[in-house]
Amino acid sequence: MGVKKKVLFHEEYKLSLEKPLTGQEINDILKNIKMGTREWAAREINCIKGCKNYCLYCYAKGMAKHFNRCFEDTWKEMEVNWKAVNKGYRKSQKKVSQAHDIMFPTSHDIFLEEPYFSACITVLKKILNEGNTVLITLKPQLEVVKKLSTIFDNFKQKITFRFTIGSINSEVLKLFELNAPSFEERLESLKYATHHGFHTTVSIEPLLDFTPNELIKKISPHLSPLNYEKDHGTIWIGLLKKQYIPKSLRIRKLKEYLEKITPKLKFEHVYQYYKEFYNNPTIKWKESILKMMIKNNIKVKGMLY
Ligand code: SF4
Repeated sequence: MGVKKKVLFHEEYKLSLEKPLTGQEINDILKNIKMGTREWAAREINCIKGCKNYCLYCYAKGMAKHFNRCFEDTWKEMEVNWKAVNKGYRKSQKKVSQAHDIMFPTSHDIFLEEPYFSACITVLKKILNEGNTVLITLKPQLEVVKKLSTIFDNFKQKITFRFTIGSINSEVLKLFELNAPSFEERLESLKYATHHGFHTTVSIEPLLDFTPNELIKKISPHLSPLNYEKDHGTIWIGLLKKQYIPKSLRIRKLKEYLEKITPKLKFEHVYQYYKEFYNNPTIKWKESILKMMIKNNIKVKGMLY
């Protein structure tokens, strides 16, 4: 016998829908929600296999392990994909809803070490020279941002930097993103790129603090001017997906922190800051939070239901 899906409805919440959706309506809406990098760009390009940052929750690592392309401990050993570096790239012709033509990179970062840095520069030059708009997504090292800003000074209008900053606390970042830069270095990178006239945005995904409030306060003054449609000056918030963190690594301090953060991933907690920032024009919600709100019959801006 089939189990009837429970549809949640919280009348006591201010942002509840006036008329709750049926289970079928919820499923239909969820089916059409874009996920992951598709929320941001029409196409993704990478030119390195593996990523030295070694974030424990990394989805790209999870996929590479699933398809036997790496092991947990070999993910941080990087290798240039010369085929991706040497091929040609065209201007994307597709009519799409995303604000950016291409997101680069999505399954690695940009590092100063060679041959990785030159490989990334070669690919970026090729895609920018064809007229694509590019969302450059980094856990930014300041020196990398400085170099990119100099090399691509003439492409400012085509580039948007998206810096991932999931916590104001460098110790928390270190627990989850073993070799990535500190909070302070990421904030300096944001200031630098904005000050040098680039479009900048921040991804708070995964959110590693209990709420995004302090982080939003610290980064907001340093974003480029807001253009919601073009996705400039925005802040995206998404939840930690614990399933990609190997169980064998959930020990000591990480285990303790996961125990503390797990209740903060529940609807009742997330709703509190969702409500607080509902009318904030810079905030965009990632699919993990949108789905949670829809399943709980909470309003989502721009969604007709
Ligand atoms: S920076 Fe991105 S690609 Fe690299 S390990 Fe972290 S999540 Fe994965």
